[in-house]
Amino acid sequence: MISKELLEILRCPMDPSRTRLRLADDHLVCERCALCFRIKDGFPVLVVEEAILPAGCDSLNQLPCQRESRTP
Ligand SMILES: [Zn+2]
Repeated sequence: MISKELLEILRCPMDPSRTRLRLADDHLVCERCALCFRIKDGFPVLVVEEAILPAGCDSLNQLPCQRESRTP
């Protein structure tokens, strides 16, 4: 199980400076880009290539946070 303390220091690799992750069942979900990270053997797998994309996104480039940073 992920402890509260650990959860507070974890960040989404897509935007490490600003994001928070929240625990949802057996996943961690980024509050910003909604990427869903699996928890394997009690450890979150914070690898974007292994994360599950939110509905409506086919690739990492389509994540809301990535689009934001490209539009002036
Ligand atoms: Zn994110």
